[in-house]
Amino acid sequence: MPELPEVETFARGLNLRLKGKRILDVLLFREKNIIGNPDEFKETLKGKKILRVSRRGKYLIFSLSEGYSFLSHLRMEGRWKKLPFDCPIDKHRILSMALDDNSRLDYVDTRKFGTLELKRNKDVFSTPPLSLLGPEPLDVDFETFKERIQTENKPVKEVLMDQTILAGIGNIYADESLYKAKIHPFEPAANLDDGELKTLYQAIRTILKLAISLRGSSVHSYVPTFETEPASMQERLLVYGRAHEPCEACGTPLTYTKLNGRGTTYCPICQKRKNAAFVLAITGPIHAGKSIAGLFLETQGFAHFDADMEVKKLYKQADIQRTMKEILGKKAIVKKQVNAPYLRDLFAKNPLKKKEWMDYLYPKLEEAYLSFYASNKNARGILLDVPLLLDSPFLNCPDAILLIDADIEARKQRLIDEGRDVENLMKINASYPLKQTKKIATFVIENNGGLDDFSNELNLLLRRIREAR
Ligand SMILES: [Zn+2]
Repeated sequence: MPELPEVETFARGLNLRLKGKRILDVLLFREKNIIGNPDEFKETLKGKKILRVSRRGKYLIFSLSEGYSFLSHLRMEGRWKKLPFDCPIDKHRILSMALDDNSRLDYVDTRKFGTLELKRNKDVFSTPPLSLLGPEPLDVDFETFKERIQTENKPVKEVLMDQTILAGIGNIYADESLYKAKIHPFEPAANLDDGELKTLYQAIRTILKLAISLRGSSVHSYVPTFETEPASMQERLLVYGRAHEPCEACGTPLTYTKLNGRGTTYCPICQKRKNAAFVLAITGPIHAGKSIAGLFLETQGFAHFDADMEVKKLYKQADIQRTMKEILGKKAIVKKQVNAPYLRDLFAKNPLKKKEWMDYLYPKLEEAYLSFYASNKNARGILLDVPLLLDSPFLNCPDAILLIDADIEARKQRLIDEGRDVENLMKINASYPLKQTKKIATFVIENNGGLDDFSNELNLLLRRIREAR
């Protein structure tokens, strides 16, 4: 989605090419994109001269003669194109204007979310949407910036993206600015002190100015145009779109998570949470050493959230047992106990039932986790032990993921030494998604040697995490 630098690029390019041109005719192909009366929009534009194109927040303002303007918000994929009059028609064209220099100005929008709205000049800034916008991040002074940000108790990234607080910053430049300022995106804005706010203020300005000078970012399918050279800020982005790639500063794979439904990338080591525990998820195939690592981290002050144990606790609750019977059948509960063999069998035969059950259970488990987190947030760290990490909603919680892996031979030997059913356990474990987990893991420890090597590795890991605190 185009943000301040991309819209600014459009505004400058359009202004240069459209200033003084007269609109001879208007063809509207999709009325839904017009806010207000489409006919009035079309008729009013006809015959007007374009005096200037400028930007406010993520809006383009086309100032016309005779006291009119219109606003254009590009949303996801909207773009303006100035073409020779007889150029072929784009099938995603929303609007076409014939100009008096034998050219055509088209508004094209593949996703069709963009909006166009006619305004009297006197109403442009005094009525919504522009009257609702916060100040421009490149114009606002530090004291005003501080006042607006510091009073918010929401995660700082959410605050930066709130157009009523500051106008123009979206997902890309929020992630980039927070990384540059070394601030965790989830940090409540109210927690930031003056020094941190100053750093953030500067970071935002530096990044937006650089992005404008590079004509914005071309990301996903979005290509801002209207300059002779293409956008190139995408090559300078350090976190956005770089999930799991090494951090430029410290080499740690960048964490990808969701904040309020929006993809968020940050460095778990460089971007510190203040006064909050470091959340480390632990995963790995059977007998690679997960439980030893868990015990070790517990002795080092980590609070341990064991999802299996929590599920067992949940399964003892009467209301959950009742729902289980409804969803999975009466046989699921025998003498007030969960009938585990029946469930295993049912889930193996009927994956849809399993999904239905998980959709019910996961929110309960997440609730249990959130209350655990709240009561342990002053611990040195929180160890999040969720067997099926990839499938679970917890994937969005950890700061980092620790994968404990070991060669299959080493793991087999450990099972033999303990006199356990090697074949069966290895069979159950064959489905462990090692490859996918490796891709998203922040830290990987290969536990093939003895206990000393293993505890050395874990100590090293702790030292790295401590750097983050
Ligand atoms: Zn880093």
